[in-house]
Amino acid sequence: MSTDKKMKPESLMMSYGYRPELSEGAIKSPIFQTSTFVFKSAEEGKAFFEVAYGLREKKEGEVMGLIYSRINNPDLEILENRLCLWDEAEECAVFESGMSAITTVLLEFLKPGDLVLASSPLYGGTDHFIEKILPKFGIHAVSFKVGQTRDEIMHIVEATGMADKLALVFIETPANPTNDLIDIAGSKEIARHFSTPERNVLLAVDNTYMGPVWQHPLKHGADLILYSATKYIGGHSDVIAGACLGSSELITRVKGLRTFLGNMAGPWTGWLLLRSLETLKARMDIQAFNAERVAAHLNEHPKIEKVYYLGNLTEADGESFHIRNRQCLTNGGMISFDVKGGEKEAFTFLNSLKLIKLAVSLGSTESLAEHPATMTHADVEPEHKEALSITEKMIRLSIGVENYHDILSDIDQALGKIPLRVESNQEEKQLHLV
Ligand SMILES: *Cc1c(COP(=O)(O)O)cnc(C)c1O
Repeated sequence: MSTDKKMKPESLMMSYGYRPELSEGAIKSPIFQTSTFVFKSAEEGKAFFEVAYGLREKKEGEVMGLIYSRINNPDLEILENRLCLWDEAEECAVFESGMSAITTVLLEFLKPGDLVLASSPLYGGTDHFIEKILPKFGIHAVSFKVGQTRDEIMHIVEATGMADKLALVFIETPANPTNDLIDIAGSKEIARHFSTPERNVLLAVDNTYMGPVWQHPLKHGADLILYSATKYIGGHSDVIAGACLGSSELITRVKGLRTFLGNMAGPWTGWLLLRSLETLKARMDIQAFNAERVAAHLNEHPKIEKVYYLGNLTEADGESFHIRNRQCLTNGGMISFDVKGGEKEAFTFLNSLKLIKLAVSLGSTESLAEHPATMTHADVEPEHKEALSITEKMIRLSIGVENYHDILSDIDQALGKIPLRVESNQEEKQLHLV
């Protein structure tokens, strides 16, 4: 196993953590579609429960035995071991959705009276849970916007008068749908600043947009990583799942609550994700490669006003440029852009696509397009939307693994359906004449 560790994760995704001899020599892990596991003896059952319920420490070399599929299952354990390799995490817990991973972490690490500091914008479901559900349990929330400095953010925390109750910093970077970046190491410094010997303020990072191949938050000081495994990890738009990674100490707590909430992934979900992980690196390489070509094309297109893509950052963008260089291993597979015009022009584009599917979600093999202002971000407050650049003219693209020439042709033909706005734009008028 120690030599295994030196190999790249993509080389280990087909075999790591699975022993064919335990499954009739099957090259692939079977789906362990079982609720419970038979003990060899009553003594063994007793020993398994002692470890599972933390009644005693594990003995040297003792492994946690299989008891019941709400606690553990081979498909989940193998999946968790393999997911650990990408982020070099000690432990992982998988869930039946990204939301269940996120909400379990929030509930485990926050208690009544606590304060959570969150970045904005956040995924809509996470935002709703923090703003609308947590207050029912007496948990307070405060947020900062992308682009605010460390001093400004610390000031926001202090202004609540509850800085001594800060328990968790929760960030999502790059932000959806604008690709704005948040400094992970800087966020950890904020968490540290408000920590005391009794109270270690934790940093949780939703790494769905870039991970687990393109960004490794633990390396930049994060304590917990969260994923909607529905996105890049699953990658085929056919399964909903989530994951949380971090130190053994923290994930043991997360798994403890997961056992009692009963929101672990089932064996079939586990098996589907094992299959997805074998091609994760290959898929994401192609997606990043395609995205670069699509962005380059959009940057030059006369019907497009602005492109939001990590690869467009230059020295002139200041801090964002340096954050990108520090924490992102590629420019990712997500591109947003503003068409010239408004909702009418954006909808004409979306309704004219043939290859690219009009759907929310992201990170899948097929390219997807959506309209954040009226779809994924429909319930963001209007003035907040404006501040975040989520306007009627914005389209969000998730780039898939198709041949990029075909993606470009589809984009071009759909943009071609947007009528030229003769009344205002001189440049377009000329284009019309040519
Ligand atoms: C989709 C998504 C989620 C929620 O995940 P589900 O698997 O749909 O529950 C959370 N965070 C981000 C960034 C997402 O894109």
